[in-house]
Amino acid sequence: DERIAGIASSIRVIPDFPKPGIMFQDVTTLLLDPKAFKDTIDLFVERYRDKNINVIAGIEARGFIFGPPIALAIGAKFVPMRKPKKLPGEVISEEYSLEYGTDKIEMHVGAVQAGERAVIVDDLIATGGTLNAAIRLLVPKPNAERVGVTVVECACVIELAELKLASLFCEFGLPYTLNIT
Ligand code: IMP
Repeated sequence: DERIAGIASSIRVIPDFPKPGIMFQDVTTLLLDPKAFKDTIDLFVERYRDKNINVIAGIEARGFIFGPPIALAIGAKFVPMRKPKKLPGEVISEEYSLEYGTDKIEMHVGAVQAGERAVIVDDLIATGGTLNAAIRLLVPKPNAERVGVTVVECACVIELAELKLASLFCEFGLPYTLNIT
């Protein structure tokens, strides 16, 4: 797609952020370019508009930038998946491992209903640990807290090229990314 090159060139790479050795993919420069931002949203909307999606789940923080315009365009609700202790109501949470230690994401109880179809949105996938935890918040479990939502796909703008992903268990298989390298 000819839109991909413009999107790719709008993303700034900052070396050694937040620590030495990390090449940080900075999507704030994509947001400064209205064509690149619109093209990004349009590509996801074109992919998901006719797939009976009820839920766009966005991962804090940059899933909150890309998720809502996709949700509005396809007529789905937006569900924030947040860092611990941010959501005021009753939550369910899932833990995941980081390079050092663990982190958690949380979702409000009652935000999704059994049988709904969801796409999970974030800016970037590296190991897939974050998206895996997000999937676990939605999929059916013996545990009655999970209502049983079908995760149709995970969608990210960027996939870190050097990391080949273990499969995340979604209806469509592997995460969808815009293939920016
Ligand atoms: P994963 O769980 O290893 O797949 O890491 C993905 C998470 O880390 C996402 O929520 C990203 O927003 C964040 N992340 C990791 N590296 C970068 C980066 O270079 N730019 C922006 N976000 C990043």
